[in-house]
Amino acid sequence: MHRLTLGDFELSVFSDGTYPLDGGAFFGVIPKMMWSKRVLADENNYVTAGLNSLLIRTGKQTVLVETGMGNKLSERMRKFYGQPAKLLENLSAAGIAPEDIDIVINSHLHFDHCGWNAVRDKNGKIVPTFPKAKYYAPEGEWLYARKPSDRDVISYIPENYDPLVESGQMTLLKGGEEIAPGISVKTFRGHTACMQAIVVCGKPGQNQSQNPHLWQNRPEVGHPSPSGSSPIACYISDLMPTTAHMDLVWGMGFDLYPLDTITSKKEYYARALPEGWLTVFTHDPMMPWAYIEKEESGKMVAKEAK
Ligand SMILES: [Zn+2]
Repeated sequence: MHRLTLGDFELSVFSDGTYPLDGGAFFGVIPKMMWSKRVLADENNYVTAGLNSLLIRTGKQTVLVETGMGNKLSERMRKFYGQPAKLLENLSAAGIAPEDIDIVINSHLHFDHCGWNAVRDKNGKIVPTFPKAKYYAPEGEWLYARKPSDRDVISYIPENYDPLVESGQMTLLKGGEEIAPGISVKTFRGHTACMQAIVVCGKPGQNQSQNPHLWQNRPEVGHPSPSGSSPIACYISDLMPTTAHMDLVWGMGFDLYPLDTITSKKEYYARALPEGWLTVFTHDPMMPWAYIEKEESGKMVAKEAK
């Protein structure tokens, strides 16, 4: 169990299981002789990807960031990805029922990030998995998901979001909004045009200059402050899916805008490195979160968070 305290908040990681992904697709233009030193591939060139959701207890609300792959994959999809569907049982083992979740946030609407948003009831009707939750997702993602390109149409399963938008249970975000005190979203273009990272400020109300949603107007920070008064965590999602993707040019083949992935990573690091942010990795099966540090050689290293 991965759990830690971030200021006033308690953070834990819950997994929906792991699934196989083609190693070439996972690392884009990076040659296998390089990525295979970091990640093991099987005889079919598949590597293991995790499905990490972040649970935030603020003391007032319980917030779930990302809902994994879920249990509604088609037979064809299941052939590729399996369907681990472990999230609800893992939450339940920690004493968390679907009714306990107050807020659900999706970074984007690919099937492996919002799969447990909804389930089929015994009559086959699509219903929200978390009945009392307010759901949030990027508006640009939802608009795009209605008419995806031929290349990524397979990544979108409308049952995961359309019924929630229609019923008013899902709110669509422009990027930059604060959803609950200390929890805000920030658009990072690259993997898709409108993917949003979820930024968690563990001491909401304190030290407003470090408030993540004031991203634009912040003065430069000149020195590291890993144990600063306003600890911040960021669910960076598919901008940097695992600890093996921390170097600027190690992007996924799935990214629709690979050059923007590099620009967005630079923008992220400009704050996350000097301020000692905790980075949460959506697809890392071993290390779901870490503090990223830049060595003198320029290499990025992940320091384990305890
Ligand atoms: Zn994605």
